[in-house]
Amino acid sequence: MAVGFTLTPEQHGLKDYARAFAQEHLAPLVDQVRTTPDPHEAALLVRPAHDAAVRAGLIKGMIPKVFGGAMGSGVDAAIVTEELAAVMPDFVAGLGGILLALTPVCFGGDPEQTKRFLTPFLTDEGAPQAVMALSEPTGTANFAAPPPAEGIRTTATPDGDEWVITGEKQWAANLAGWDGTGPELMVVVCRTPGGLSLIGIEHEHFTTENLRLVETMDLPGLRGHLTQRVCLDRVRVPRANLIGEEGQGADLTYLAFTASAAAVGVMATGTMRAAFDIALRFAREQTRGGGTPVIGHRPVADILTDAKGRIEATRLLSWRALDAVVSGDPAGLELALHAKVFGSETAVDVVHRLIQVVGVQAYDNAFPLIHHLLNAVAYPVFEGGNIGVRRRQLQSILTNGAWNPLAASGLV
Ligand SMILES: Cc1cc2nc3c(=O)[nH]c(=O)nc-3n(C[C@H](O)[C@H](O)[C@H](O)COP(=O)(O)OP(=O)(O)OC[C@H]3O[C@@H](n4cnc5c(N)ncnc54)[C@H](O)[C@@H]3O)c2cc1C
Repeated sequence: MAVGFTLTPEQHGLKDYARAFAQEHLAPLVDQVRTTPDPHEAALLVRPAHDAAVRAGLIKGMIPKVFGGAMGSGVDAAIVTEELAAVMPDFVAGLGGILLALTPVCFGGDPEQTKRFLTPFLTDEGAPQAVMALSEPTGTANFAAPPPAEGIRTTATPDGDEWVITGEKQWAANLAGWDGTGPELMVVVCRTPGGLSLIGIEHEHFTTENLRLVETMDLPGLRGHLTQRVCLDRVRVPRANLIGEEGQGADLTYLAFTASAAAVGVMATGTMRAAFDIALRFAREQTRGGGTPVIGHRPVADILTDAKGRIEATRLLSWRALDAVVSGDPAGLELALHAKVFGSETAVDVVHRLIQVVGVQAYDNAFPLIHHLLNAVAYPVFEGGNIGVRRRQLQSILTNGAWNPLAASGLV
């Protein structure tokens, strides 16, 4: 494990670039996205930023170079993720959805599939969407549980040279695509005769009959994320669209959700950092009639101090986790899970406490703080809820007799 805590000049350049991108393409949208009442309209406001992200190479940057992409190190990814998340985590969640879908293609797809499925995402124009369709309205935490548990209910039945896919999917961004006709690629987690499997559905396989948009979810936060529920009704794709082997679906799904766990820690850092800036400014500038700025009151300063320490801790953990995952360090999974659980729960607590620094002013939608809390409360429950999924993954690591507690630090 190489240890280094200094950004290279290139990484400073990346940070400046991502910060400028966020200011130009995301910051002007934030208020409008959170105050537009219709969730579909609110999420569509972010589409031009997706176009800009494609032009800027951000989607290509999520694809390894071996497949024609431009993926850098995990620290590079963390730098970009934090800068974007500090302004609009909804947008980051949308990009994360694409990463979730492309990861099993990269790791489980054969050479013909990687070329076919990844090509639309190696472009410099448009706003192609890839969706990892795991979650279902009836629950997801037990998606891989064996019978008699129901687990995933979506099925794919072989019929000649085709799979016939039927089921309901919910929560993933862009399940129906920007315009309701489906995304460029949907990776569906489904039951096949050989077990839990992943199957890729390209846009050309969707019709108005076999893909039905049931609803666009009305989220309290992250409103720039087009979150939908769809019905798949006998969607037909070639048998060659099975990704990996039949029965490999759970492993590939967990793999897909590993980098995203670390990324949630980075998103949490971005959210806390943005909320901290607002609370600090308020505490330095406002006297609230007391003659001196409220930061001069010790309990106020204590909250800010504690928040800053926890932001730094979350940043170090989640940047390290993302770096470990991307570099293939065996400690990656454990660190990513901690980044997800610790980062997400820390963010909710820190933002809640920062709201108390500002006091009642913060409880006004017009004050730019409460929406950070509405975003943060998503972090423990999305990308695998902490209780139903992520802590169980950590429990299985801890209960493995061969596990060494020092392994994650490279100190064995
Ligand atoms: C903004 C956003 C983006 C999302 N993007 C995607 C995406 O791209 N793709 C996708 O497929 N999904 C996506 N999701 C959905 C989401 O990632 C998962 O469905 C979700 O994390 C699983 O929810 P859950 O853990 O609450 O599961 P549920 O099955 O709904 O479980 C609910 C609760 O039941 C309890 N529980 C159930 N089983 C157990 C158990 N065995 N042990 C302990 N407790 C249990 C826990 O308290 C758990 O919190 C997204 C969601 C949001 C909000």
